[in-house]
Formats: sequence, C-alpha cells, structure tokens
Amino acid sequence: MDILPPHIDNEGKSTVASQMGKMEQDIHTVHITALQTYAHLMLEHVPVAMALFETSEFRLLAANSRYHALNGPVWQHGYALGQTLTAILAEVLPGEQLAHIIDHFSAVVQTGKPFRVKAYQVVGPTRGETYWDWTAERISDQDHVRYLLVTVTDVTASVKERQQIEQAHTALTQLHRSVESERQRLAHGETILMSLQNITEPKRLAASVLAAIDACFSPSLQAFYSIQVESGSFSLLSWHKYLDGLQTDSIVTPPSHLQSSDLLPLEAMPQTPLVKRKSQGDEDLFLAQSDSACVAYFPLWGKRCEGILVLVFAREEELTDLLMKTLKECTPHIVEALVSARLHLALAEERQRLYTILDQLPEGVLLVNARTSNISYANPAAARLLGVSLSQLVGVPLNQSTSLSPCGRSQQSQQPASRWNFALIHALWGKISTNQELLISRPDSSEVVVLSSAAPIRGSNGLISEAVIVFQDITLLKRLEQEKNEFFAVANHELRTPLTIISGFADLLLQQDNVNLNTLHRYALTSITQESEHLTHLLHGFLDVSRLEFSHLDLHRSAQDLLGLLQQSVTKYAHAISTHHISLKLEDLQPDELLVAWFDRSRIEQVLNNLLSNAIKYSPAASEIEVGVRPHRDPNGSPREALIWVKDQGRGIAQSDLPHIFERFYRANPGETSIRGFGIGLYLTKEIVHGHEGHIWVESEPDLGSTFFVSLLLGAPTVSITP
Ligand code: ADP
Repeated sequence: MDILPPHIDNEGKSTVASQMGKMEQDIHTVHITALQTYAHLMLEHVPVAMALFETSEFRLLAANSRYHALNGPVWQHGYALGQTLTAILAEVLPGEQLAHIIDHFSAVVQTGKPFRVKAYQVVGPTRGETYWDWTAERISDQDHVRYLLVTVTDVTASVKERQQIEQAHTALTQLHRSVESERQRLAHGETILMSLQNITEPKRLAASVLAAIDACFSPSLQAFYSIQVESGSFSLLSWHKYLDGLQTDSIVTPPSHLQSSDLLPLEAMPQTPLVKRKSQGDEDLFLAQSDSACVAYFPLWGKRCEGILVLVFAREEELTDLLMKTLKECTPHIVEALVSARLHLALAEERQRLYTILDQLPEGVLLVNARTSNISYANPAAARLLGVSLSQLVGVPLNQSTSLSPCGRSQQSQQPASRWNFALIHALWGKISTNQELLISRPDSSEVVVLSSAAPIRGSNGLISEAVIVFQDITLLKRLEQEKNEFFAVANHELRTPLTIISGFADLLLQQDNVNLNTLHRYALTSITQESEHLTHLLHGFLDVSRLEFSHLDLHRSAQDLLGLLQQSVTKYAHAISTHHISLKLEDLQPDELLVAWFDRSRIEQVLNNLLSNAIKYSPAASEIEVGVRPHRDPNGSPREALIWVKDQGRGIAQSDLPHIFERFYRANPGETSIRGFGIGLYLTKEIVHGHEGHIWVESEPDLGSTFFVSLLLGAPTVSITP
C-alpha cells in the first residue's frame, strides 16, 4: 500500500515520480563519479592486499599498495604492474608453492569456482614463515572472462597467536596428563602401601598386597612367592586371578613351591624388575597362560632376595609405565613388611612354644602387656591358685583383676589379704620383687599363701613391653612352719622351766656353805649349772632362729654407750675364762670416751658373746684373743661409726668355707665332734648386726687365726626403726 502525504493527490503522483527519478539519477551519477574518483583511495584503505590479473598470462593489471608490499622490496612502487604472477611471486614463494597457486588460479579461471584458502603457510626466502588468507575470483564481462581478482590477507600474527595458544594448550594438556598420571601413581602407591599396614602374618600380607595390586591394575594372574632360606626355594604365599582378563579354563595354577632354578638361580636373581613379552619372542614365560601376552617379575630384594612377585597380563598395553613405576617404588616397602611379618610369625611361634611350656609348670605365671595393661597370658596353675577360670584372667585389664581376689582382712590368719596385681603394677614401673609372700583371698573365700616374684620384661630398645609374675603355693609350707614355730615356743617354754629349776637348785647347793659336799659333788653341781646355762643359751638361739624364719628379730633400741658395753663384756670374759688371754685394745680412743649408739643392748651383747665364745672355741688354750675398737670420726672429731673386731690365733677358716659361715646351720667341719655347735651363732650375729644397719665380715688364714669385724653406726638413728 502506497502512503502519500495528504496534500498530494493522484494527479500529482506522476509529477513526484518524475522528480524522484531525476534525483536518483543525479545521485547515481554523483556516486559513479565519486567511485571513479575515490575507488583507488578506498582500495588503499582496506586491510587486504588486492590485485587484478588478466587471465591469459596472469599479468598484474592493478593492485593496492598493500599487495605491492607483500611481494617484497623488488616489486614495490608499482613496478610489478604488467609483470606475470610467476615473476612477482618467485621472490615470495618457493617454486612448489608457486606452481600450486598457479594451478588453483587456472582452475578458478576455468571453472569460475572461487578459490579460498585460509592461513596458507608461505615460507619465503626473505620473509620467513608467514600465513596468508587467499581468495581468487573470476571477473567476467559480457560472458568473457576478463580478470582474476586476488585478495591476500596477512594473518601471520593471528595464526601465530593461535599457534601459541595451541602450543600452550598442548603443554597444559601434557602437564595435566603427567599430573594425572602422578596422582594415579600416588593413589595406587597409597593403596598398595595401605595394604601392608598392621599385617603380621606373611600369607595374609601377600593376599592383601595382591588384592591391592588387583584393585589398581587388574593383572590377569598374580603370584607372591617368599624365599625359604634353608632350602633355597620359594614357597607360594598367595595367588590371585582376575577372571575378566582370562578364560577361566585356561588358568594355570601357580606351583606351591618354586625352585630358584625354575625361574632364575637365586644368586642370579636381578635386582630390578624383569619383563618378558611373547611378542618379542620370549618363550617359556613362567606362569604365562596360553592367552597371556607378557609377564612381569618383581624380585623382592632387601638385604637378600626375600621373594618374588609375578604379574601376568593378557594384553601388552596393560603392563603400563605407571604400573612398573608404582610397583618399583612399593617393592622396598613390601620387602620390609614381608621381613617383619616373617619375624612376627617366628616370634608368635616361639611365644606359643613358651606358653606350652609355661602351661605345664606347677607355679602360677601371669603376663601383662605394658601397652594395654591387659593380662596377656595366664597358665592353668595361676588360674587354679587364684581360684578363677583362665577366661576370667586372660584379656582382663590389670586394674579390673583386683575384683577377682577380694582384699581385706583374712578370715583365717587375721592378716591383710594382699593384692597380687600390685606386684605386677610395680613391675610395669620397672621394679623387681623377689620371694615376696602374699596372702591371697579367692572369690570362694578360701585363702592361699604364695611366694611371688615379679619383674619387668624389656625389649631390645630397653623399654618395658611386659611384666611377669610367678607365684608358688606355699600354704602347706607356711602351715608346717607355723606348727614348727608353735612347737618351738611350747618346747622352749616347757624346757626352760625345768632347766631354770635345775640350775637354780644347783646354784643354791653350791652357794650354801655345805660342808657335806665333797669335790666330786661340787664338780657335779658346777657341771649341772654350766650345762644348764649352755642348754638355755641353745634354746634361746633356736627360738631366735625360728622367729627369724617367720619375721624379723625384735630389737629394743635405745641410746647406749658402746665402749662401756665392750669394756664390761671383755672384763666379764677375762675373769671367767682362764684358758685364754682376752684383752681390749682401743685405737684412737680414750678409755673414758663415750661411743653413743642407738642399739639393743642385749642383742649387741649377744653379738660380742657369740664372737668371743667362737674365738675361745676355735683357738688353742693359752692363746691371745684381742677385742678391739676404733672410731671413725667426722671432720669435727666426733665419732660417727665404730669398728669392732675380735681377733684370735686359732685354726682359721678355709677359703672355701668363708662365703658360707654366716649361713644358717653351716659348720666348717661338720664331722668334727670335739667342738660342739649347731651353726646358728654367726647366722644370728649377722642378723642382729644387719638389724642395726651394720656390717659384719671376716678375714681369716688357716692355722693363723681369724678376725671378725663389725661396723656399727654411732649417733642418732638415721632410719626409722620398726620394732
Ligand atoms: P658353731 O655353733 O658351729 O660355732 P657358728 O655359726 O658360731 O656355729 O659358726 C659357724 C662356723 O664358723 C663354725 O662351725 C666354725 O667352723 C666357723 N667359725 C666361727 N668362728 C670361728 C673362729 N673364730 N675360728 C675358726 N672358725 C670359726
């Protein structure tokens, strides 16, 4: 629909139309004129090199300066006009490329189909490598092909930029690939290493490693062999097949034993992995299946060849660099885990052997693990002694085991019942306790007395790994001992009373001026008194020995003058004994000086009596006996310790007897009946001296005499004294 302004009618339409046609013609004329005038200028401004060739010889008819610039310095400033394309481009293109271009242009002229090529690489002798977008189009005039319009756009910068981007992209892709493969290697390595953790049994370890390798790489078949050093052969720990990779019926089961010569002699076992491929003509591949392509052998080298890992693949490409690298890196860890698992197994077997032996012992044995504080082992004797079942003991934490032995006061002996687990706790702290008597209350309220010894067990690093307690039932022994002590106490009392009466009456008869007594009567009465005293002395000794077996000697200590006591004892003996010359020697000491010490007077007197009576007993008549004392003084001159000795010129003591003479009931010459004795005097003497924190020792030469030394601390007591 035409739309006209309202003031124009139909008649006026033709007028307008004619006016319009004139205007258009004018504009066209101006346009043509402008085009002719400025076309050249416009062509100079387009960013494309343009050229017009005639089509018979491809001579250049017109070109903008951008085109001239392309053709190199020789053809600039329009000298190329009228020249053939071959001549012009000979400077720019190598011959082969030029021929190629000419062919294309000819095809354009003949077919009329435009030629367009993007980023055509031009490696010219002068310019180096450049990239051009080419177009060539035929221009026809009245059905005659007249011209060929060629445009060239130099796209070198953008192509190079694109190439750089592509190169960067390729580099990035490669980097990404290598990062990805590194990530995979680490992930696979981690999977394999994780499979080694906390496995202490070689077969389980091998199965776990194979499962991990399978999860990462899926070889068709795997076998894990471990060396048996004694036989020089390998034994199969585990094997694994991946059914997807192989036909089940074609699987050859790995042999359970493998002589090193089956594969390679042990000494020739390579340190690095070995790969054998059927494609490379390797024949007789160990473990290779009928349809497998290659086999990789990973010798497990530590200090020696510990085993071998065999991996079979159905296709060669499955044996990747990633697999080789990962397994090569994991091999040392697998070796380490294998060696440690074998050690663990050997230890477990050794432990089992030990437990079997301990199970047979009549003594109770309990072991506690230091890390968990749980009872790790108890033998049947331990369970029997504690009155519980083995399952109630083993695995129980030590602190809960208390409930198994109720503590408190024993109903039978009125002694506190002991907690046997305290000894174990102390042992876990590194304390050794030996021959400790414990009264144990059982859950059924019965009681048992045990002699227990506990000690820590240390590993090679010196750390405590376990603690052990061994206890022996001494209930019967204790009962017998108690009965014996009771018998001693009663016998002592029963014997002492008549003895006192006998010696009392003998004394009375002797003391009275009885004229009726002849010499024989006097001798008889004196003998009765002396023998009664000897018997009383012996009875005291036995009583002391039996008390010592049961507990310690009762010492009633108070501050006493040691020198006064010595002087008194020596004087008494010197007067009473006419057979020997007894003297007191003071060294570095005044006779009136006090040597105050904290001791039980009657017991120290007993010590002196024992040593003096032995000196008299074991030295010949008329010989000298020296009792000596020398204080050891502090820098202020105050005596701190007293050394007392009793020296005789008697028969001495043989070297072999010296270590034993302080033992209970030990006599150097037991067959000799001329000298009476029971071998308890020196034992009691030693116990009394030790009870006073003192020391006793002897120096003796056979036939030359003996000297007994006693050292006692002077001054106030240094330790608390428990009576
Ligand atoms: P015993 O009753 O036999 O004298 P002791 O315990 O007093 O018991 O002494 C133990 C042993 O030590 C004695 O049998 C004796 O062989 C030896 N003995 C002790 N004192 C002397 C000494 N002064 N000279 C030689 N031997 C001695």
